[in-house]
Amino acid sequence: MDQLEEIKNKIDIVEFINSFVPLKKAGRNFKGLCPFHSEKTPSFMVSPERQIWHCFGGCNDGGDIFKFLMKIENIDFGEAVKELAKRAGVKLAQYQLSEGEKNKQILYEINHLAAEYYHYLLINHSTGAKALNYILGRGINKNSLELFKIGFAPNSWRSLENYLVNKKGYRIEDLERAGLAIKGPNSGFYDRFRDRLIFPLKDQRGNICGFAGRILQNNPQEAKYINTPETFIYHKSDLLFGLSEAKDEIKKKDQAIFVEGELDMISSFQAGVKNVLAIKGTALTENQIKLISRFTQKIILALDQDLAGDAAARRGIEIAGNEGLMVRVAKLQGGKDPDEIAQKNPSDWREIIKKAEPVYDYLLDSAFARFNGETIEDKRKISNEIVPILAKISNEIVLNHYVRELASRLQVNEEAVTKEINKTKNNQSSPSIGKAIFSDINIDKEKSHREVLEEYLLSLAFQSGQWEILKKKKIISLIQTHRFSKILEILGDYFKNYTIINSEKLAKMIGSELVETFNKFYLFDLGDLMEDGVKFEEEIKKTIARLEKINLVEKLTKISGTIKLLEKEEKLSPENQKKTEELNNEFRDLTSKLSSFEEK
Ligand code: ATP
Ligand code: MN
Repeated sequence: MDQLEEIKNKIDIVEFINSFVPLKKAGRNFKGLCPFHSEKTPSFMVSPERQIWHCFGGCNDGGDIFKFLMKIENIDFGEAVKELAKRAGVKLAQYQLSEGEKNKQILYEINHLAAEYYHYLLINHSTGAKALNYILGRGINKNSLELFKIGFAPNSWRSLENYLVNKKGYRIEDLERAGLAIKGPNSGFYDRFRDRLIFPLKDQRGNICGFAGRILQNNPQEAKYINTPETFIYHKSDLLFGLSEAKDEIKKKDQAIFVEGELDMISSFQAGVKNVLAIKGTALTENQIKLISRFTQKIILALDQDLAGDAAARRGIEIAGNEGLMVRVAKLQGGKDPDEIAQKNPSDWREIIKKAEPVYDYLLDSAFARFNGETIEDKRKISNEIVPILAKISNEIVLNHYVRELASRLQVNEEAVTKEINKTKNNQSSPSIGKAIFSDINIDKEKSHREVLEEYLLSLAFQSGQWEILKKKKIISLIQTHRFSKILEILGDYFKNYTIINSEKLAKMIGSELVETFNKFYLFDLGDLMEDGVKFEEEIKKTIARLEKINLVEKLTKISGTIKLLEKEEKLSPENQKKTEELNNEFRDLTSKLSSFEEK
C-alpha cells in the first residue's frame, strides 16, 4: 500500500496524462478531450490537488494514475503498477502477482523465448537457410529481420517443445495455452508452427502475444498463413501488426497508414514510410480503431483494391467515422500490393500516400465503379448509397463541392441531389454525432435539477476551500441527495478530529463506495470562476438561494397536496380543521417567502 502512495506522490498526474492528451488549465483543474471516447468539447477533468481524473462525458468514469494507465494501455492493475513504479524510480519490494497475472506472465515468457528460438534458427542455423534465402530474396533486410524478430519454425513436430519443455522446464500445458502446441489425437502434443516463416505479433508495448507463420512456397493445399488462436493474451481483433515499432512515427506524423499484411507493413517501414500498421488481412475492427485513436485521429487506408478490399475499406471508413477519425484512402498503383510497390520504388510509395484522397472521393469512385451510372436503376443505386453519406457533411462548402460532383457524374441537376440530401437529413440524424449528443443529454437527464445544484454547491465549497459553510446546519439541511448527505455526515465526524481539510485523509474516511462521488466535487468544471473571489462568493450565495427556492417549492407542493386531501372529506373533524388552518398559514408564509426570492 505504501509503495502505491509513494508512486503516486512521485508522478505528477497532470504532467503524466498530458503526455497522452493535451490538457488546458481550467480554474484549479485541467481539462481536455477524453481519450476514452470521441468528443468535440472537453469533458475530461484532472485535479492536481486530488491527483485524480474523471470524464463527465460519455464514459462517466474516473480514478487515479493507475486506473488511467490500465485503461489507456489496456493492461491490468499489476502491469500498471510495475510500469509506473519504473517511471517513478520506486523499487517494488513485496508486490505479489495475482493468479491471473502470473498466468499471463508465463505466456509472455514462453512467447518471448519461442520468438528468440525461431529467430536464432532463421539467422544462425542451417535449418533456417532456405527461409532466410526466401525472405532476403523478398527484399527484407537484416535490420528489419532484427527489428521485427522474424524467425523460422523448422519442419519438425516437436522442436519447440523440446526446447521449451526439456531445456527450459516449461509445462507443455502452458505451451498449449500459449497456442504454440496442439494436443494430438492420442496423448501427445505437437508444435503448431512447422516449416514456416515466423512473424511475432506484439502489442503496442512490444510484448509478444502471438505469432503468424507464412509458408515458404505457395501451395493450394495449405493456408498461406496460420496464426496463434485466441489465447489469454492474444485477441486477433485487438491487434495491429507493427504498432510497437511504428507508434512513435505515428505520433510524430499525426497519421497512421493501414495496410493489409505483415510484409506490406515491413516493406513500407523499410522504404521510410514508418507510420504504418497491418490489419493482417481482416476487416478493420472497432477495437483496432479505438487503439489507434490514442495515437492519432487521422488514418489512411491503403488496402487491396479488389472487391473484398473495397468492401473492407468502406466498412473501415464507417467504423472510423463513427469514432470521429479523419479517413483518407490511398489508390494502389504500380504493383499488386504496398509490399511490391515499396520494394520496387520507395518514392512511388511515398507519392501514393501523399496523394491519398478524402474518403468522399473514394466512396464516389467506388460506387461508380460498381454501378456504372448510366441506367436509371444504376443512378438510383448510386444515390441510395452516396446521399446518406453526403448528408452527414456539416461543412456547407465541402457539401456543395460533392453535391456538384455527384450531380455531374449522374448527369442530373444539383437541386435534385440537394433535395434528396435534405430528405435524408430530416429522416435520420447522423448516428456518430447523434450518439455523442444523446449520451451527454442522458447523463444530465438522469440527475434531477436539485441534484445538479447540490453537486455544484459542494464543488464550489470544496474547490474554493470554503468548506466552513458545510458545517452550517442550514446548508446541511439543504443537501438532500442521499450520497451527498452521507458525505456531509462523514465530514461532520472528520471535523471532530481535524480543523482543516486534508482531502487525502478525508477521502480515506469516505471510503471506496463514495469516493468517486467525493472526487467529482474536486473535478467539477468551474471554469475561471475560481480566479475572481467576489464572483465566487456571489455564486455560492446564488446557488444556496436556488436550492432554498427548490426546497420551498417542494414544501409548497406537499402542503397543497395535503390541504386538498383534507378538503375532500365531507365534514372536517375539529382536529383536521385546525390542521388545515395551520397548513394554510404555512402555505401563505412560504408563498410570500418564495415571492421575495423571485424579486431577488
Ligand atoms: P504475397 O507474397 O502473395 O503478396 P503475402 O505474404 O503478402 O503474399 P497476402 O496474400 O498479400 O500475403 O495476404 C495479406 C495478409 O493477409 C497476410 O499478410 C496475412 O496477414 C493475411 N492472410 C493471408 N492469407 C491468410 C490465411 N490463409 N489465413 C490468415 N491470414 C491470411
Ligand atoms: Mn503481399
